[in-house]
Amino acid sequence: PSAHANMKDRADRATTEQVLDPRTRTILLKMVGRGVIDEVNGCISTGKEANVYHALSPDKAHLALKIYKTSILVFKDRDKYVAGEHRFRRGYARHNPRKMVRLWAEKEMRNLKRLRAAGILAPEPLEVRENVLVMSFLGDPDGWAAPRLKDAVLPAAACAPLYRELLRAVRTLFHTCHLVHADLSEYNILYHEEHLYIIDVSQSVEHDHPAAFDFLRNDLKNAEDFFARRGVRCLGLRRAFEFVTRDRLPASDGADASAEEDGGRGMDADEEALLDRWLAEDAPPEDEARDGQEDAVFLRSHIPRSLNEVFDPERDAAARARGEDRGLVYEAALGLVPSVEEGDEDSEGHSEGDSDGADSDADEAED
Ligand code: ADP
Ligand code: MG
Repeated sequence: PSAHANMKDRADRATTEQVLDPRTRTILLKMVGRGVIDEVNGCISTGKEANVYHALSPDKAHLALKIYKTSILVFKDRDKYVAGEHRFRRGYARHNPRKMVRLWAEKEMRNLKRLRAAGILAPEPLEVRENVLVMSFLGDPDGWAAPRLKDAVLPAAACAPLYRELLRAVRTLFHTCHLVHADLSEYNILYHEEHLYIIDVSQSVEHDHPAAFDFLRNDLKNAEDFFARRGVRCLGLRRAFEFVTRDRLPASDGADASAEEDGGRGMDADEEALLDRWLAEDAPPEDEARDGQEDAVFLRSHIPRSLNEVFDPERDAAARARGEDRGLVYEAALGLVPSVEEGDEDSEGHSEGDSDGADSDADEAED
């Protein structure tokens, strides 16, 4: 009862900050009732789409609550992530903000699970109910949240290893989780226990989303820019992109064909070797400008994504015969597609194991 009173008090206070509508408060109270949380404390972050609160579990473990705002305006912006996303094709309730927000929250939960299953450092999602996601708290034992990478004080010697860590995470995200973060930057990475934790994955898209490569390019541009500003020798956007998307890394070209069946795992040595090689290659100063220019051209160029867009063997062979450099991106793209015959966008092949959460709050449905 005192927990409830406390909760009600906190919830009332938060309501004055204009996030917690009565329905959200009911959800929180039910979470208290089920023993998921015990109290909700201060706001860690107020954002456009969500606020994040610090909370305590009944046994006083720190938790983070991400509470999505249910205003319809907030979610209009998100259409670009949803267009072409088959998980959202049915049931994407454009006209029902509550339902829409619930889908986003559930998606963040599923994506966080995917990251963690692949060994990517990220908060552990614990429960989602409507617009409330409960996850493990990244921060110190006193309840101070870990800083965003943007605000972190990084020892100079840590920057280069962290850059490599991030590239490997993006590659694993792509190859093992089949996701592109789509909002990756120093704002959505936390620096915790000397490592980079990826957060904010509700808008992440499947790697076969029509704009997946555009999102990936932006993600990598942010990563490159951030670490380059800190004096880290970076790959450059083109090579970073190739590092992430290539099915088989050049370092393992001699390896047997079963390498790709391990879903991208077991390639750590190759990844390291390739990074070593590429990062060691000394670009003379005058070439750096040129590389920068190539990156700019690459950034602007449309990167074809879907197989239909990409795959025209005759055109591509002719282009290559003319010496046009269109192989890089295409090969990476084609290497990803498990079965060319399939080519059916209705295929649910890669979303299996992903159905958890779909029926997660049947018990809330009648509220
Ligand atoms: P938004 O959609 O508002 O950007 P984020 O998921 O990026 O939501 O979270 C906003 C902020 O909340 C983050 O920048 C971070 O400071 C904090 N935060 C989010 N999740 C956690 C967590 N699990 N532990 C600690 N802090 C977190
Ligand atoms: Mg964020």
